[in-house]
Amino acid sequence: MAKSTRGYCKYCGKEYTRTGMLKHLQSCKKRMEVCENSKKMSAYYELMLYGTYNKDYWLIIQIKENATLECLDQFIRDIWVECCGHLSAFDIEGVRYEQIPDNDFLWGKPAEDMSHKLKEVLEVGMEIGYEYDFGSTTELTIKVVDFYKAPEQKENVTILSRNNPIQFTCSVCGKNPAVWIDPIKMYNEDPFWCEECLEKYENGELDEEIEVEESGYLLPVTNSPRMGVCGYEGSDFYPNQFEPDDM
Ligand SMILES: [Zn+2]
Ligand SMILES: [Zn+2]
Ligand SMILES: [Zn+2]
Repeated sequence: MAKSTRGYCKYCGKEYTRTGMLKHLQSCKKRMEVCENSKKMSAYYELMLYGTYNKDYWLIIQIKENATLECLDQFIRDIWVECCGHLSAFDIEGVRYEQIPDNDFLWGKPAEDMSHKLKEVLEVGMEIGYEYDFGSTTELTIKVVDFYKAPEQKENVTILSRNNPIQFTCSVCGKNPAVWIDPIKMYNEDPFWCEECLEKYENGELDEEIEVEESGYLLPVTNSPRMGVCGYEGSDFYPNQFEPDDM
């Protein structure tokens, strides 16, 4: 099995795996110092987000208790999933929260909208489902890890840690880092391309008979559970590499 991805702690810059980081954040000395030196405090939920089918992509954030589900949805879109404005939904304890609730239901409870504040719907220990795009769906799991008072930040969301970008190797030459992925071949063994091989391919200089699939398009390699899906080209707002405060 592949090694778990690692990420940096926002406060001290130490590197841990997803589960190691959760533990570390409870006792990070730098983080405690920051908390002690602050006058104005705010209440936050600490959330861990990860790809339901690929836990190598993960985020640990804190978000204000007064933020809405809509705000959390926007953050997830901005950093991880937005490609062409698809619909999305949260599933919290059997209730669906949608941007535009579809009340054309046959069974179960009617859907709610996303205007709810987090403090109205979240409790520590909960495991929440999130879906973006009901066609080529990206599914996330969100764990409500903790609830606490922390120094007031201007932004609703603060990233505490994020997995470092995964290095994929070009499937053609087998040596250069990949920068493109073939969305049609994504679930096969060899979807990755480096710039060099792509250039050779375009100039008809590749020795082997390899083709960019019929779709004829490639998508960039990104640090996201939506890499290679629909037209996903990465985040316009967040770089692939999360930088700690203290580097
Ligand atoms: Zn730390
Ligand atoms: Zn799309
Ligand atoms: Zn290559």
